[in-house]
Amino acid sequence: MCCVVPHVIELTNLTNNSVINHEFLLIKGKLSKTCSPDKQIQLKSSRNGHHKLVSQESRVSVANGEFKILYRFQACGEATGAMKVTEEFIVSYCSASIKFKCHYRPQENPYKIQPFYIICKGHDGSFNSTTAESSGRRVGGGGGSFGGGGGVGSGNGSGSASEACAIIDLNMKLLQCLYAEKLNESGFGRRTFVLKSRCQIFKSNLDVEEALKLSQEELWNKFAYEIINSEHGNDPKVKFVAFIGCTKYEPITDGDFSYENIKRHIKGNAALGGGGLALFGSGFFYSWPSKFEDIIDCFENNEKVDLERFADDSNYRRTYSGVYATSLGAVCHEIGHIFDLGHTNDGVMGNGFDYLNRVFTIDKLTESLPDRIIGPQTQPTDVPSVRFTKIKRDQNRFLEKYHEQKSGGDSFFFTRNCAIILAYNRWLRNDCKDDMKNARITQEKDNLLVMASSPLKLIEIRCTADSLVSDYFEFAKEKFTYEFALPKDIDYTKHHVFAICIDGTTKRLDFDS
Ligand SMILES: [Zn+2]
Ligand SMILES: [Zn+2]
Repeated sequence: MCCVVPHVIELTNLTNNSVINHEFLLIKGKLSKTCSPDKQIQLKSSRNGHHKLVSQESRVSVANGEFKILYRFQACGEATGAMKVTEEFIVSYCSASIKFKCHYRPQENPYKIQPFYIICKGHDGSFNSTTAESSGRRVGGGGGSFGGGGGVGSGNGSGSASEACAIIDLNMKLLQCLYAEKLNESGFGRRTFVLKSRCQIFKSNLDVEEALKLSQEELWNKFAYEIINSEHGNDPKVKFVAFIGCTKYEPITDGDFSYENIKRHIKGNAALGGGGLALFGSGFFYSWPSKFEDIIDCFENNEKVDLERFADDSNYRRTYSGVYATSLGAVCHEIGHIFDLGHTNDGVMGNGFDYLNRVFTIDKLTESLPDRIIGPQTQPTDVPSVRFTKIKRDQNRFLEKYHEQKSGGDSFFFTRNCAIILAYNRWLRNDCKDDMKNARITQEKDNLLVMASSPLKLIEIRCTADSLVSDYFEFAKEKFTYEFALPKDIDYTKHHVFAICIDGTTKRLDFDS
């Protein structure tokens, strides 16, 4: 029987012959009408004319006339970083279909990100997703990050170093896709960062017992110092995203599950990015997928977290999916800091990093989340190198105030000023040479002037205490602005200036002394 409903399928984030420079691709679109409930959106991909159904492994999320499909470019069933392929896609629903091609061309850039899994001295490299004594389940039923049998783990509640590396690799690729998607939405094309290699194990000289006593600032300083002085530290074009293996959650027995108390019970933990290093604990890996086909399940796993056994940071959702979205959102935010972003009231660099799940799924329920407050910035002491000098700290305090939902989008976005900095940042563009020099950015304090040898693209006024951007000035690329007079009505003892040129040179300028 032929269906008479006039279905129309439309893509919203891709056009035919799009060039994609990241391995994971989000395919988003709209479906005008549905008919019978057993009809599904299907994705077929083909290379050399052989169509292959891929919707099962890629999980189609469809509701309210919208669909999203997460796809991975593969060569002969295996993921690879360096191939170039052209895939033909057919998205179909009932009698309707739409055909389009994508050209996968992995991005090349001498400016790269290296992921690390840090193993402290005296530690076996396993990550404790639960306490040492607990055993059994590591992930909730629906998620299935580990050990096939319906979420039943192998016994001791910890994952191996190679599992941790698989989790890191998968999720860094997901963030690569996310950055490209968000910059594309902001009108800058699919710019994203390049990964230098798969996740490497970094063996630290810091003793595990010592690591469990240190604050996140102390851990950041310690590991930044070690990395910069290691064989990996020679190339200033490489920045690092590192996860600490020995993060430990001491169970809460007094029933106080406030975030302050939860944070006190997570040892060897960090969520801190600046300069050349973004550092995190591994305490939320229990909610993270290690396999591509589990990603959407993990974003949709609404099973409640057992707060006595697992560290929770989910902005009060207290579900596996909430923990995954918030903790990966925090990684996205801190990586933003190593790309020189400050804080904003809205979006990823402010209140909005808990919503990361919505980028990849279609929200059927509307979650209402309280706003985050961005806490004061602290300066680390004992700074190992100039390129590791900027550090921002977020204190996850909360207001019982409900977030205003952004209509239309997925509530996860970079504000305009952040998108500009990312788009012009050398780590996210595709026109950087190996031996690029920095432009000279100078200041004239008396006249509040900023001068640069390359045209200025953006100037921000940032509050020094919390890095919050209070104002910004964007310059059209064609206007070649080499000099800018700052507003006079700003208290420069409490604010500093951030400038980025069109060649990607950035500088912080202080006008108070
Ligand atoms: Zn139909
Ligand atoms: Zn921050």
